[in-house]
Amino acid sequence: MRVVCPTMHAEHLHLDDVWSATRDTLARSRLRWTIFVDPLQARIEGADLTPVLDWLADHGHEVAMHTHHHRLEGEPGHTTGFVMGQTLSDGDIARCLGENHQYLAERGHTPRGFVSGSWLVLDAIYQWLAGNGFVYDSTLRTYTGAGPHATLVADETCPGVRTVAGLVEVPTTAPIREQVRREVLRRPAAVRVGDVAYDLYYLHDYDLVQWKKRGAVRLLDTLERRAGALTVGQLVDRIGSVVGR
Ligand SMILES: [Zn+2]
Repeated sequence: MRVVCPTMHAEHLHLDDVWSATRDTLARSRLRWTIFVDPLQARIEGADLTPVLDWLADHGHEVAMHTHHHRLEGEPGHTTGFVMGQTLSDGDIARCLGENHQYLAERGHTPRGFVSGSWLVLDAIYQWLAGNGFVYDSTLRTYTGAGPHATLVADETCPGVRTVAGLVEVPTTAPIREQVRREVLRRPAAVRVGDVAYDLYYLHDYDLVQWKKRGAVRLLDTLERRAGALTVGQLVDRIGSVVGR
């Protein structure tokens, strides 16, 4: 069974033009999207994403979590800004993850899945996710290395589904542009796990204000019309027994 899992790294859903383009794109899509939401900017600006998150879930998409890690400013739980480019402690990492998680959970959308901002892979991230009810992670990629900062995984490509720190690692297989190229050439990446072969590609919410990216999504909807459509969470449930869950 061939399955496609389109995913979105969503950081600006509180901005009207981004949400409008995202909603319109998803409303036209046959596929089931996994929306990895980083609510940091919304939190800083005091925006309430409840109606956005509810709309996504009501339309069959999965609300998962995305987090860019920075040194946060303001009292814990009342972040007012952040400083980029700082060396981060495990406490900084836990605060970024914990505050985002709390924001989503308080709105009734407790996430099971995660992808790390800037593809940052750290032991502290995996350990925090495993200790806070997460089931899967999609930060590793089939097409490039993990980065040099973790001991739990080597700095290599991740060609298949595996378990890391108790989480199911479901690697990302392509950016959307590459996915279009592969579909046109009829060469999907198709990671095999059990009786399923999946493609998990991504774009950003703010990309969708460009007509080219909206066109790419629509084209993929057509090219992938015969593939099964699952969120990443649904895929993990489908293959759970193969990966020991
Ligand atoms: Zn991001």
